[in-house]
Amino acid sequence: MRIEVDRNRCEGHAMCEAAAPEYFSVDDEGVLTILTEEVPDSDKAQAHGAVLSCPVAALKLLSR
Ligand code: SF4
Repeated sequence: MRIEVDRNRCEGHAMCEAAAPEYFSVDDEGVLTILTEEVPDSDKAQAHGAVLSCPVAALKLLSR
């Protein structure tokens, strides 16, 4: 699976980083970096939790 972020929606809340710090990093200015776009099946639940945690629904998990 692959993580996709809608940068027009993202407001830098960093809930995604809290849920899955291996995949998301938010800097002091609220700019999100996706550390790894590809999510192996073994991390699917964690990545899905991060997607659900985003308060502005800026994240999606896409099947590749
Ligand atoms: S939780 Fe949502 S709004 Fe916050 S940094 Fe992550 S993607 Fe952006």
